[in-house]
Amino acid sequence: LIEIKNMKKSFDDTQVLDGIDLYVRDGEFLTLLGPSGCGKTTLLRIIAGFETPDEGELLFNGKDMLRIKHYERPVNTVFQKYALFPHLNVYDNVAFGLKLKKLPKSTIDSRVTEMLELVNLPQVAKRNIQSLSGGQQQRIAIARALVNDPKILLLDEPLGALDLKLRKQMQFELKRIQEQVGITFIYVTHDQEEALSMSDTVVVMRDGAIQQIGTPTDIYNEPENAFVANFIGESN
Ligand code: ATP
Repeated sequence: LIEIKNMKKSFDDTQVLDGIDLYVRDGEFLTLLGPSGCGKTTLLRIIAGFETPDEGELLFNGKDMLRIKHYERPVNTVFQKYALFPHLNVYDNVAFGLKLKKLPKSTIDSRVTEMLELVNLPQVAKRNIQSLSGGQQQRIAIARALVNDPKILLLDEPLGALDLKLRKQMQFELKRIQEQVGITFIYVTHDQEEALSMSDTVVVMRDGAIQQIGTPTDIYNEPENAFVANFIGESN
């Protein structure tokens, strides 16, 4: 689905991505895991089209994605801060992308209903965004990101602002949603436990380079070097 080849990116004198090679399969839950500053967010932003690499390729089904504007890419992004429109209600937030496409109201209505059911909040369409809890707002952000049928959902520490109990519950929910919609999720976190519990594939990064790619079981049982072993062994 996505191929990244020898991707490099520097900011000023800092090499943030130092030759990343990665293949992401259709329908998988792939997590970029690593300590703060290792380049996870930068890689995600390049896939989203918010940042341009200095070198390297980004292919989507063999097509060069770097030439495609961010809003035309088959991806959508969910951030830690929900980035919902606070002055619009839930319905209008979720419907936003569909209204831009000028779809008929009945189509928009049924699609919004479907999305709110998907994220387990069927009753909140008329509510103000500010009246929802953090976890609920994050579900709405996910509904809004999925409403346009992206092929890939990019998630940058989406649960980072939530307390531990809610985070656990949302991990489970995210996995369920991903399995239900069947699209590829690329998830960024520095939380080992989160990466191991949700992912099909974990990519461990350090200083702009990939240390290991594997299933959670592989990474946990057979770390390829001391960095991976230590990082996975640390608790939060
Ligand atoms: P975190 O978990 O803290 O977000 P990360 O692994 O996602 O870390 P990045 O956000 O990709 O790491 O940042 C990698 C490095 O690049 C950091 O040192 C950061 O300060 C630097 N950086 C990121 N964006 C910019 C920018 N626009 N201008 C300058 N430096 C940047």
